[in-house]
Amino acid sequence: MVVGDVSTGTDVAVVGGGPGGYVAAIRAAQLGLDATLVEMDAYGGTCLNYGCIPSKAMITATDVAHDAGNAEEMGVYADPDVDFGEMVEWKDGVVDQLTGGVEKLCKANGVNLVEGRAEFAGSDKLRVVHSGDGQGSETIEYEHCVVATGSRPIKVPGFEFDADPVLDSRQALAMDELPDSIVVVGAGYIGMEISTVLAKLGVDVTVVEMLDEALAGYPDDLTQPVKQRAESLGIDFEFGLAADHWEESGDGIVVAAEDESGELTEFDTEKVLVAVGREPVTDTLNLDAIDLEPNDDGRLETDDQARTAVENVFAIGDVAPGPMLAHKASKEGIVAAEVAAGEPAALDYQAVPAAVFTDPEIATVGMSEAEASEEGFEPAVGTFPFRASGRSLTTGNDDGFVRVVADEDSGFLLGAQIVGPEASELVAELGLAIEMGATLEDVASTIHTHPTLSEATMEAAEHALGHAIHTLNR
Ligand SMILES: Cc1cc2nc3c(=O)[nH]c(=O)nc-3n(C[C@H](O)[C@H](O)[C@H](O)COP(=O)(O)OP(=O)(O)OC[C@H]3O[C@@H](n4cnc5c(N)ncnc54)[C@H](O)[C@@H]3O)c2cc1C
Repeated sequence: MVVGDVSTGTDVAVVGGGPGGYVAAIRAAQLGLDATLVEMDAYGGTCLNYGCIPSKAMITATDVAHDAGNAEEMGVYADPDVDFGEMVEWKDGVVDQLTGGVEKLCKANGVNLVEGRAEFAGSDKLRVVHSGDGQGSETIEYEHCVVATGSRPIKVPGFEFDADPVLDSRQALAMDELPDSIVVVGAGYIGMEISTVLAKLGVDVTVVEMLDEALAGYPDDLTQPVKQRAESLGIDFEFGLAADHWEESGDGIVVAAEDESGELTEFDTEKVLVAVGREPVTDTLNLDAIDLEPNDDGRLETDDQARTAVENVFAIGDVAPGPMLAHKASKEGIVAAEVAAGEPAALDYQAVPAAVFTDPEIATVGMSEAEASEEGFEPAVGTFPFRASGRSLTTGNDDGFVRVVADEDSGFLLGAQIVGPEASELVAELGLAIEMGATLEDVASTIHTHPTLSEATMEAAEHALGHAIHTLNR
């Protein structure tokens, strides 16, 4: 137990133990640096504890039940009996296993773990107020500091998260009892993933979205199959409405949402999930102490070595510019640690994959056709529909397609977009292809196992080259 003020020194102090921070700390320790990781809540951060992992566990568990109950076409008649409490226990067990693993990995690599909340206390100095079993505070003097404090849900005025029927994504994923109904504010990827889980478990879901589409930012042809499937699960989309306020009403609540002209529409519901996006956590760090200012989005601008404007302070993950994704955070963590160790590491964002784990899944990597044109390429595009894939048909799930985008002149692969079964897994091959500077010929001439979903990537490349075998070359 630590009592009172103590002072320690370290080569690299990492603030935040999410997929950015713990990876940075482990990599720094591997490179022979003395690394100290400060975490105020739970190792693994948002991703392992409240985000990626619990959401994917719930998606898988509900898919098992839903698919079993909807397989009459395959001659399977089942009426799965879901024990939601046991499902939640299983999900929590997966999370505990992973977060315990992070702590063990850090210790095994020699990372010093400090439980507490850190803020800057002058140049090259952090002040940590201990949490957990420790008491008092500690000053950590560092050569390099990596800020990896992540993000939190954006609030909507009138929908404070401390009132019981109003949930953020963390609270929604921690529910131990299912509501009969829920209004989900926001049709981004978090809103869509959780809506799909709840609808599959029989909850009456209404999605209220200010824009006129779900998963804005993704091309229409990728989002259409997702929206259609969501509607077939009973999800009701209410576009062009902004959540305005809620009030108690009888047994439940009423959520009022406003259209452009100010007219209110009311929805009776039991709970409301607010999932309108996330904001970086930089306002609690006392950045003034090191003369560092966040940009207008609250993020810390960085160069291609993840350095901020303060030479020995790095920013990675959700607090740095770019998409808020766990694997992007980890990559930045590795680069920051290597740069701190004097290695010639740098970031390259040409092939950052992104996945939405809806039904069906969406995954993208690199450039879209429009982005390739904007960059001055003459894009060659090839697609392959899953309905023409033998493996896809044998899984009973043949929605969607793979699309590849390449440079017509050189054949270099520039990007890919997938909607369909296992899109999040399939995109990895195309990310590697882009990273390695592979051409359409390389992808098309790679012999793929038959019958697999991954053959679709080969077929899409063949289509772009004009010699597809299993789809028409138009
Ligand atoms: C519901 C949901 C689903 C998601 N699904 C996916 C997905 O499928 N794939 C994907 O790539 N991304 C997903 N994300 C996003 C992903 O979780 C984040 O991009 C990722 O966690 C960012 O990692 P990070 O290390 O930057 O920050 P975080 O994981 O947020 O970790 C930051 C850590 O810093 C700690 N901290 C903050 N301030 C201090 C301080 N002053 N002192 C000490 N500690 C501090 C916090 O307690 C936290 O543990 C999801 C997010 C949510 C909410």
